[in-house]
Amino acid sequence: MKTLFVTHAAALRHEMGEGHPERPDRLRAIERILEGEEFQTLAREIAPLGTREAILRVHPEVFIADIEASAPASGYAQLDGDTTMNPFTLEAALRGVGAACLAVDEVMTGRSDNAFVGMRPPGHHAERSTAMGFCFFNNAAVAARHAQSVHGAERVAIMDFDVHHGNGTQDIFWGDASVLYASTHQMPLYPGTGAANETGLYGNIVNAPLRAGDGGEAFREAMEGRILPALDAFGPDLVIISAGFDAHIRDPLGNLNLIEEDFDWATARLMDIADKYAKGRLVSVLEGGYDLQGLARSASAHIKRMMGAA
Ligand SMILES: [Zn+2]
Repeated sequence: MKTLFVTHAAALRHEMGEGHPERPDRLRAIERILEGEEFQTLAREIAPLGTREAILRVHPEVFIADIEASAPASGYAQLDGDTTMNPFTLEAALRGVGAACLAVDEVMTGRSDNAFVGMRPPGHHAERSTAMGFCFFNNAAVAARHAQSVHGAERVAIMDFDVHHGNGTQDIFWGDASVLYASTHQMPLYPGTGAANETGLYGNIVNAPLRAGDGGEAFREAMEGRILPALDAFGPDLVIISAGFDAHIRDPLGNLNLIEEDFDWATARLMDIADKYAKGRLVSVLEGGYDLQGLARSASAHIKRMMGAA
């Protein structure tokens, strides 16, 4: 298997102030674990800047212009209670989009079997016209649209196992039958969306909320009972994972009790779907995960599985 890892140093320069959980050390922790011998065959690419054309497939011009205008020359600019820009945020966000599009290009053309986008800021809370929840541009959504517009993918599935519901991705694809958005997440929890009865205009949204305290067993039941059957019925040309690792038992922001083996298991099941319908094409995009050890170990299990080396 050729697995690609896409990142850029700009993702280490974006930070939102002392004590903020979405911090550069998250990416450093992943980078450190990828120095291990078992990752020596991982291919690497540097993230380019995302194009305006790619972002415009998801976010309106006025929203992009607003983010650009908010970018501070020094200090911080606060967009919402927990979403802040420093002078490097805009570049990091643009390269996050560029990384996701590059990963799609590589996978859709068969140059790579699958790809992991190791960038921050994350994206799944970014709605069409709202930056929120540590997110600016919705990387997974832009990747899905890029696959459709540039590579002729007809149906794209996005599966999101971050502990938080991806309200942004749901908002963007609510009325679009060509994209399936499926999510497991803790509920109630930020951002408050993601009830099972939120199904989209075409039944293309599949929410499987979990309760605080639920662990691997409930997660696997939700996957096997709701998510995987929906993915099977949908038959995607590309599988995108919104890979947040904050459902890990060590995470300070959530109360689910997943362990590395659960992320490994979910990755394997999603690869099965990709193998069955999409010639194995799978792109995984980093979202949350705020305990450095839990994040690094979970991302390691996830990427190792993608490499076929688990
Ligand atoms: Zn999260």
